[in-house]
Amino acid sequence: MSKLVAFAAIQGGYNVVEEVEGELKKALETYNADTKVEFPNTGYYLPVIYSLLGHKVETLEDLQEPLAFARGLLPAQIKRVNHLPYLGPLLDAGMAALFAYEIKEGIRAVTDPDFYYPSQEDPDVEAGKLWLGPADDVILRKRGVEFVDGTAPGFAAIVGAAPNPEIAKMIVEDYQLKNLYIFCAAGHKGTSVIEQLLEAGVQIGWGTRIVPFGPDISSAIFALGFANRAAMTFGAVEPGDYKKILAYNKNRIFAFVNALGHVGTHWACAAAGCVNWGFPTLADTDIPEILPTGICTYEHVVANVPHDEICQRSVEVRGLKVHVTEIDIPLAFGPAFEGERVRGKDLYAQCGGGKTQCTELCKKAEMKEIEDGKVEIIGPDVTDLKEGDTFPLGVYIQVAGREFQDDFEPILERQIHHLINYIQGIMHIGQRDISWIRISKSAMEKGFTLKDIGVVLHAKFHQDFENILDKVQVTLYTKQKDVDALTKRARGEYKHRDERVENMTDEGEEIYYSCTLCQSFAPNHVCTVSPERTGLCGAYNWMDCKASYEINPTGPNQPIEKGECLDPVLGQWKGINDFVYKASRGNITHYNFYSIVHDPMTTCGCCECIAAMLPSCNGIMTVGRDYMGETPCGMKFTTLAGVMGGGASSPGFVGHSKYNIIQRKFISGDGGLLRMVWMPKILKEELKERLEKRGEELGYPNLYDMIADETVGTTEEEILPFLEKVGHPALSMDPLIG
Ligand code: SF4
Ligand code: ZN
Repeated sequence: MSKLVAFAAIQGGYNVVEEVEGELKKALETYNADTKVEFPNTGYYLPVIYSLLGHKVETLEDLQEPLAFARGLLPAQIKRVNHLPYLGPLLDAGMAALFAYEIKEGIRAVTDPDFYYPSQEDPDVEAGKLWLGPADDVILRKRGVEFVDGTAPGFAAIVGAAPNPEIAKMIVEDYQLKNLYIFCAAGHKGTSVIEQLLEAGVQIGWGTRIVPFGPDISSAIFALGFANRAAMTFGAVEPGDYKKILAYNKNRIFAFVNALGHVGTHWACAAAGCVNWGFPTLADTDIPEILPTGICTYEHVVANVPHDEICQRSVEVRGLKVHVTEIDIPLAFGPAFEGERVRGKDLYAQCGGGKTQCTELCKKAEMKEIEDGKVEIIGPDVTDLKEGDTFPLGVYIQVAGREFQDDFEPILERQIHHLINYIQGIMHIGQRDISWIRISKSAMEKGFTLKDIGVVLHAKFHQDFENILDKVQVTLYTKQKDVDALTKRARGEYKHRDERVENMTDEGEEIYYSCTLCQSFAPNHVCTVSPERTGLCGAYNWMDCKASYEINPTGPNQPIEKGECLDPVLGQWKGINDFVYKASRGNITHYNFYSIVHDPMTTCGCCECIAAMLPSCNGIMTVGRDYMGETPCGMKFTTLAGVMGGGASSPGFVGHSKYNIIQRKFISGDGGLLRMVWMPKILKEELKERLEKRGEELGYPNLYDMIADETVGTTEEEILPFLEKVGHPALSMDPLIG
């Protein structure tokens, strides 16, 4: 190992500790000693200090102790004659610097509270809010779990800037392809990787896994704070148990540092500090290397790595095995692109979303009927469109296999959502006949065609469901008449699937099923699916969950013994509560199946409909995804989904499927379907026959005509006279809130 790098790192440790001592002294002269020091919305204080030392920093004064501790860690300066192995003192100096960096950021939270754009997933570039600072606990739970379940193997911490934006983009895209998070801090020569990526048109934010922590090297501490909080949250390591925290990171979190640009003393000490975590540093410049292995899996510091090799080398040095599945499309593919959005100015063309029809259907076929891997486009492709065009789309998947049952169709169909989202530059929302696909300009530039959707579905279905299927054929319809025909047929199929649970009752089953498929978007969200309450996306009913569990016993649908009934009216069971508590990682303690007023079930962004209370009408309304207009609760569907979609249980609102409206237990704890005073016309008409049937069962054969829609009004004041005129039953029911 080189004496020189050891010198730079130890010198750096001294410099940083000294600087921060000065800053703290000044802050204590300016502010009261009991001024609060906190990172936004976290229960982990300053997390590196808290996790390693067990010390809770809450005020400016509290910073003194860890800073004194950092000072004490600084080793004696290396002398020429010293031939001791340098690693020990080097690691201590690095650690001292990192504690000091976290204290520096703590002081900043007091002296410059608006420096970062906290608790946000994406920066607001136009407003100049580029740097997000430390992730709060909501983001930690949502994203950290991916490090645990393997959807993200780890992160690349990049400091500095590449020689130009193209190189920055190339490096980062390599990491995205390997599903790593990219945590960015500091700059070099007046720019930073983040600014370069923006210049190259790359979307940054937690959603694309490119996180702009901060412009200074001290903000690199947020990456380590994130890793240590993951160890405490998901690894149940106690704060203060520094050995376990560091070992957890070394063994479980595949992370490393890429230093782009000149490595001075301030970077060198941070790099040395990271070795304590087992995170090596790879640099693009000629810095002295630390090659012998010891703490890191392989080398500690590697210099002079060419830019087109830095990704591959980093992954090797950190000992990370990545399974990249080659899927033959011109775009990058993987979970890293799932959260990416296609916004207005990036949009090339779209289908569905209320503008055109977009329908998805998966059906079983006979083995000899279909050809494996065949993807056919019937009608014009996106390459025949102009920018800004819309087009109708029918996605028809046929699957054959000796073990394949009809019951599996909806499970495969539900995969379309995340698989299309995995394609870089393509966004998918919804399911069944309310899907919505947005195609970006950059995807078109790279050569995207509709065929790629078929290629992805074929490849991934084989990969993920090899035990139940042998052949997959995909047909994509883009002519209106074909899409209409497929939609008509699909609606018949959906209805048939829904009806399989029609004669079942909640009382008649002891086992309900969980669904946590949506936790990648809504981390606390857990659907519980009972015979009389289908999943809020409409795509999974009780039968579907049962089939999904058969296919994949460790998958997102688990049987739950409902256990003791705690409230038969609102629909609450002990076994369900216990399960939900665990599956939401302690965030949801209980919920009711049959109520919108009292602790309703959680809601995620894929719900088909959202119901809301209308207090002046003593009733409720509901609105589906395909209705764009105003509603009497004062919010459009998109606004409601934005407020509700993160997995919250919000009294007064609840997400549900279309089919659930006509299930017998629909908000039965609050009076049931007779409370329904407003629905958009399109939804009412779709359910007409079944609403009439339910009305009859409830003793109101003309209930259908009593429910107001937008032709009557879109405010409570507008619809109330109508409800009075028709004698709507809600008006004479017990008060909704009482
Ligand atoms: Fe599962 Fe609920 Fe998501 Fe549907 S909405 S996929 S039932 S978690
Ligand atoms: Zn969802």
